[in-house]
Amino acid sequence: MKARTDAHFATQCIHGGLEPDPQTGAVMTPIYQTSTYAQSAPNEHRGYEYARTGNPTRTALQNNLAAIEKGKHGVCFSSGLAAMDTVIRLFEPGDEIIASDDLYGGSYRLLTAVLGTFGIKSQFVDMRDTDKVAAAITDATKLLWIETPTNPMLNIVDIEALTSLAKERGVLTCVDNTFASPYLQQPLELGADLVLHSATKYLGGHSDVVMGAVITRNDDLAKRLYYLQNAVGAVPGPQDCFLVLRGIKTLHLRVQRACENARKIVEVLQANDLVANVYYPGLADHPRHEIAAKQMRDFGGMVSFDLKEDTLEAATEVMKNTRYFTLAESLGGVESLIGHPASMTHASIPREQRLSVGLTDSLIRLSVGVEDGEDLVKDLEAALAAAVPASV
Ligand SMILES: *Cc1c(COP(=O)(O)O)cnc(C)c1O
Repeated sequence: MKARTDAHFATQCIHGGLEPDPQTGAVMTPIYQTSTYAQSAPNEHRGYEYARTGNPTRTALQNNLAAIEKGKHGVCFSSGLAAMDTVIRLFEPGDEIIASDDLYGGSYRLLTAVLGTFGIKSQFVDMRDTDKVAAAITDATKLLWIETPTNPMLNIVDIEALTSLAKERGVLTCVDNTFASPYLQQPLELGADLVLHSATKYLGGHSDVVMGAVITRNDDLAKRLYYLQNAVGAVPGPQDCFLVLRGIKTLHLRVQRACENARKIVEVLQANDLVANVYYPGLADHPRHEIAAKQMRDFGGMVSFDLKEDTLEAATEVMKNTRYFTLAESLGGVESLIGHPASMTHASIPREQRLSVGLTDSLIRLSVGVEDGEDLVKDLEAALAAAVPASV
């Protein structure tokens, strides 16, 4: 392998776990678009038999993912939720999972509506409070499912506090690192057993692929995950693996720029008379700013804010009037997106419950892209100004 394990993050993005193609010397990993591989005699092959089991493009991506998360093994899946489903298959009926009460909606749905019916029980706890998590652990608890920063309130959970609690109590930990990306946060370094990504977001980075991944240092867990990857079969295709490999080569640059742009936007939003609250872990008055500063390199490209005129109508006017922020679900791409959690991603949560965590009717979530920061700031200011007539 070209990159030494002590190489810096930017070098790992480009070289980590990768080598030129052994057949041809191709510098970029080829797309091995094949479902099967020729054998010279029954069971005599070059390490690849059938493409659900293995594909060289996927192997290259898995090695690269292991390198950028400071893990040993990467395992790819056809989506972030397929990755999560496969992780939960490590457990059995009767086992319990404790998950964050502020969870990606699809993860919540998978744990309750799907896996719940197979006898795997989940409890949802405010993971900002380590004592509450400690009190919730029972003899049946097998896994803590941690997400930080959370969506859309950008709450911060102390990863190290929870992984050390879990180790004391003999419980595994999995951190959904989708929002931060490994450039900002490396949960394995903070004691996590497993890291999960929706590679659809920052890793792919160009809103052109759906994929998931799990990374670990634990040989036994990796062996079982590779077994399940093949046995369950939710694998990504080689084209998609190529796209994510290409995306990761600029991960550090994209996230750096997104953080820079987010800082500019936060400043402008805070100064705007129409804005009520701005949620961003980089703000000194964010209640968990110190923990974010401890476990993250920078504070990310996700920003939420709400309006003094706290209505869906006022928020809708803002979202209809942006030019560069596209109204859409998802996040982590080069292009900026704007969304309305109360009516889009979090519409299934009862209004009272939403309001109790600060998710107001006018809350707007931004996935800040890598366009010019001044253009993004002007775009938002103009959209906010255009929303005024509707709100008075
Ligand atoms: C998008 C997302 C997922 C699900 O990933 P898919 O690739 O859409 O299946 C899981 N967790 C978080 C935090 C996400 O943002």
